[in-house]
This record gives sequence, structure tokens and C-alpha cells, in this order.
Amino acid sequence: MWHAPAVIAENNFIYKSLSNWSFNVAVGCSHACRFCYVPSAATIKQGPKLAEYGVKDPDAEWGDYVLLRPWEEEKFLSSLRAAENTPRSELKRDGNRAVMYCTTTDAYQVIHHPDPERQRMLSQHARRLVRRSLELIRDHSTLNVRILTRSPLARADFDLYKTFGPRLLFGMSLPTLRNDLSKIYEPKAPAPSQRLATLRAANEAGLNVFVAVAPTYPECNEADLRATLEAIAEVNPVTIFHEPINIRAENVERIQSHADELGLELKTDVFETREQWQDYAVNALQTVESLAEEIGIADRLHLWPDKSLGSLTVANRMPKPRDYMRWLRKSWMRISEWPQ
Ligand code: SF4
Repeated sequence: MWHAPAVIAENNFIYKSLSNWSFNVAVGCSHACRFCYVPSAATIKQGPKLAEYGVKDPDAEWGDYVLLRPWEEEKFLSSLRAAENTPRSELKRDGNRAVMYCTTTDAYQVIHHPDPERQRMLSQHARRLVRRSLELIRDHSTLNVRILTRSPLARADFDLYKTFGPRLLFGMSLPTLRNDLSKIYEPKAPAPSQRLATLRAANEAGLNVFVAVAPTYPECNEADLRATLEAIAEVNPVTIFHEPINIRAENVERIQSHADELGLELKTDVFETREQWQDYAVNALQTVESLAEEIGIADRLHLWPDKSLGSLTVANRMPKPRDYMRWLRKSWMRISEWPQ
């Protein structure tokens, strides 16, 4: 167990339009996504504290440690009141007054522990953190909730989500339908086929759903992207977010060696230089955009172009730099949809 309790905290998303606040149930995440920004950003700041828990290298060991936060109801309620009472004029509009579960971990990951009894207790605790906090948000505030997960375990809470009506959006990260690719980039996360089945179940249960086609990989070719978007269109999402993978150099080698073990060939050349990555990223965003138009879901597509794609050097490589900059700004300024 981590020393600090689970509370609602402000987040500082830029150009994402996901939420104004976060609720994180743990430090660490058992899904072990190779591209995860958390160990290099949020968790690294907690390095000295993590060392006390036996985590020597928070980045290299990412995916091997999950420290659940304790539940202290008074502290949670106090953070809820602070969020609820924040004047709207002080909030970024693109956050939709939403609390996001979660931004630095996954609310529905499997909790592992060598002692089965301890594992059972910790899993129950994780479940209580999510359910109790949701009940309090629903009953003691007017805030919205955005759930983003990679886990089908979320199905167990569909009943609770329904009681929020339009105040809750449920979403999954689904960058590809290819289970083999997911095994490389998100080695311990549930398979894409399970995630798609969960999205279908959510849609059938009458929930408002969204999908993060993020991050897509260099190996996601047009056929794969088309198949993913067509499958997503069937679950009638409110918003479809998309961004291409943006990986840190030190992770490329780890990904490559894992792919070699599984006999998969990867396109790691796109990570060789900043320019190569930028060209790949722009191409991926534009491909998804034209596919969305073809499939008839362009109105719900919300692109997440990285800030660095707005540099003059990138713009000047485009056939029409002004149009390109206009296109970027439109995505950056967009406020994601929220059902009324
Ligand atoms: S599920 Fe999210 S927080 Fe967890 S490892 Fe993957 S990207 Fe990181």
C-alpha cells in the first residue's frame, strides 16, 4: 500500500480535452505499456519514496509494481468539495468538469500478490476505492466522470455507471484489433478482442462510450486502422480520440528485443530521428482522418497532434504550411463532446 490516500487532484492535460481532475487508485500500473509516459513523468518524481518500497528503477521496473492508495473518506470528500467548488471561470473548458479514472494507472487492472489471501484483500480494496469514490461523486457533487481503461473488469461496474446518466462517459483504449501487436506494446494489458467486446457490452447496456485509438503503432497499416475504426463505429461512440505512438528512445530497444523473441518484425526506423517520427505522426493522423471520413465518423474524430508537430520546421515540410497549421490548431482547440 502507498502511504498517501486516493483523492481527486487537478491535472494538467494540454490539448487532450479529457478532464479537469484525476482520480488515481495506485502508483504503478500492471499493464506495463511500453510507451507509457507515467514512469518518465509522474512516477519519476516519486523515485525516492518508491525506493523505500523496494522499487530501484521506476522506469525499468514499470509494470512490476502497483502500490494501491489507502482510502480515507474524509480526505476524499474534502478533495471532492474543492473540485466541486472550483469556479467555472478557473477551469479549462475542454476538461468538461470531469474527473478521470485514471490518468497514471488503470482503475481495473488485475492486482497481483504472492500470498493469495493478501491478493484477495488488495483486489477488494481496489474495487472499493473505485465504487465508493464514484458513489460519493454521484451523490455529493455535480461533476462529470470519464472512465478510461484497458480492462474488461470494468463490466462489473456498469450498473453503477448507469446511475450517473449523462454525467459519465465510459471508454477504452483500443489502438488496434491485432492481439499480436498489443502483446509487444502493451504486454500485460488485456487483448484488444476483449476490449472491443467490453465496448460492445457497454453500448448494449446503454452507456455513453468513447474510444481512444491511442496510441497507434507504426505497424498499424491502413487496413488495420480501417478495421479498427469500422469496429469502433459499430459501438456508436460519442468521441473517438486518436494519436500515434510517441516513444522515448530508451524504450525502443526493449520493444525490439521483445518483438525478436516473438518473431515479429517492427518498423522501429520511425523512431530513429525526430524528423522521421514527426513525418510518421503527421501521416498517421491524416490517414486516420481520411479513413474516418470514408467510414462516416469524422464528426466524432478528435485528433491529438503532439505539440512538437507545430514547429516551423515541420510546417515547412508540408505542401501547404498555413493549411497545416490551421488543421493543427483546430484539433488542439477542440472541446470533446459530452452528452446532455
Ligand atoms: S494502462 Fe495507462 S497507465 Fe497503465 S501502463 Fe498503460 S498507458 Fe500506462
